[in-house]
Amino acid sequence: MARLTGYLSRRGGLHPEEAKGLRKAASLLFDQQARAEVCRWMNAQGHRTTRGNEWAPEVLTRVLSHPRMAGLDDDGQLITDFGETVLTPDERLRLLALFTEQAGQQAEPREAFDYLMKDGLSECDRCAHSMVGARVTSGGAPTYRCPPPRAGQTSCGRVRINGDRFEDTVAEEVLAELLRPGTRERVSQLLADLRDEAERLRAHVEGAEKRFGELREMREMLVPAAYEAAEKATNQDLREARSRLRYLEQLIDVPIDGVEDLAAWWKTAPRAWQRALLGVVIVKVRVLAVGRGRHRDPSERIRIEWR
Ligand SMILES: [Zn+2]
Repeated sequence: MARLTGYLSRRGGLHPEEAKGLRKAASLLFDQQARAEVCRWMNAQGHRTTRGNEWAPEVLTRVLSHPRMAGLDDDGQLITDFGETVLTPDERLRLLALFTEQAGQQAEPREAFDYLMKDGLSECDRCAHSMVGARVTSGGAPTYRCPPPRAGQTSCGRVRINGDRFEDTVAEEVLAELLRPGTRERVSQLLADLRDEAERLRAHVEGAEKRFGELREMREMLVPAAYEAAEKATNQDLREARSRLRYLEQLIDVPIDGVEDLAAWWKTAPRAWQRALLGVVIVKVRVLAVGRGRHRDPSERIRIEWR
């Protein structure tokens, strides 16, 4: 797991500068400032996430909601030797309540619709191209569509589906699946596997420097073409490992361990968490065209490929 902002390591130890930024962010939130506003303030002050990125509302929510912000373990129990914490448990609870309240009020700002089923999570059943978020007319309803074909892209452009109905239907089916006996255990296992994989990839990425070093030492023994090929392959491998790791890191921190009522969790969870849960349990959703004799009901137009 990546280091949590505000702390020097996973085991605690306050990072004074980062902790200061987060505490200020919390106090701005308590003052009813919008999360986007608070992020702008943090970014302007030079605060960055542990990955060096600018703050965005979803990230800020995730970090401030983290049990470790108040020195708690995943079960909400105080970790005895954790040391100074960014927030008090009470402050964290107040923030959680605030986030839940805001999520309930969000009247779906139409222009900034955050498509849930992106990043390859949904695909056109006719041509297997990824569906993309789009609006047919400005001000129209969010829609997913197979993009029209163009040079270098063989998509069919013939399938589209209403965004809200598509997402609601997928959510319904996924939550129903998660209620079936044994599924939660299976999800925990999938998450554990993904965390293991991320751990291995992290070690692999960290070992890249060593591998390049070993390769350079072999340079004298290799013909130039072979050396170049080996270097290229090592680079490619590193790129792929990093990209997969970035993807996994979005999934593995999804806080569903121990959540009893997943349906309630889903209603208030930030999009990033919803997307992460979907990424854990499904490979993708295929969207079928509206065809002869096929009902327009979205549930009859989607095929979920479970993991
Ligand atoms: Zn298509």
